[in-house]
Amino acid sequence: MDLVRYEYQGEIRHGIREGDNVAEIDGDFFGDLQRTGAIAALSDVKLKSPTMPSKILNIAGNYYSHLGDSPPFTRPQPFLAPPSSVIDPGADIVIPAGSVNVDYEGEIAVIIGKRARKVSVDDAPSHILGICPANDVSERDWQNGDDKDVQWWRAKGGDTFSPFGPWITTGLNYRDIGLKTLVNGEVVQETNTKDDMVHDIDTTLSFISQHMTLEPGDVIFSGTPQTTVALKPGDVVEVHVDGCGVLSNPVAAEE
Ligand code: MG
Repeated sequence: MDLVRYEYQGEIRHGIREGDNVAEIDGDFFGDLQRTGAIAALSDVKLKSPTMPSKILNIAGNYYSHLGDSPPFTRPQPFLAPPSSVIDPGADIVIPAGSVNVDYEGEIAVIIGKRARKVSVDDAPSHILGICPANDVSERDWQNGDDKDVQWWRAKGGDTFSPFGPWITTGLNYRDIGLKTLVNGEVVQETNTKDDMVHDIDTTLSFISQHMTLEPGDVIFSGTPQTTVALKPGDVVEVHVDGCGVLSNPVAAEE
């Protein structure tokens, strides 16, 4: 099932995708998904970010193919990005003035469906609503370069740096799923979680919840594989996760 948050006739609504249409539901995604009976064509609605999270937990160094020769971390390594870094599907990723090293990071976003506080690995799946593609946009000079900060607050938490969507897909086997990133139609990252992910999604959720309560709508960006390169204005980045909608965002320069 695909859960869509969208704007239609001036109001933000929640619904269930049915082919090229969306069937509106009462309330948000965290209730019983009762349909109102209203149907709209997807082409007539504006897609919004699937949730407005209270926080985003990004996971650093979580694919063997991204780590290269570096040893894997012995536990998940989350860091925070703020809600203000979220943009809607299709919205511009904006390269800050003066930045020349803003990279894509194609990732799988995990959407929390039920409050998670000190949950076990076995109980983690019952706290997950679904998944979608995400892009952990990263300013590498501020992250690792000569100009690096103590924390990655702007390197990864700056405005427009946390696109996810276009909608939440439920019921997928995220332990064995393909992830792919395209820039201007060319594949630049491609992997599968089964063989490449260091700390699986259930383990990561459980670990975070020992220290920080995850609320419905919060999001975990579960890490990026392989290598990344800098984006430039005019590029279009797509992130594909098997069974999900495609997340597509154009890249613009700050005006
Ligand atoms: Mg990342």
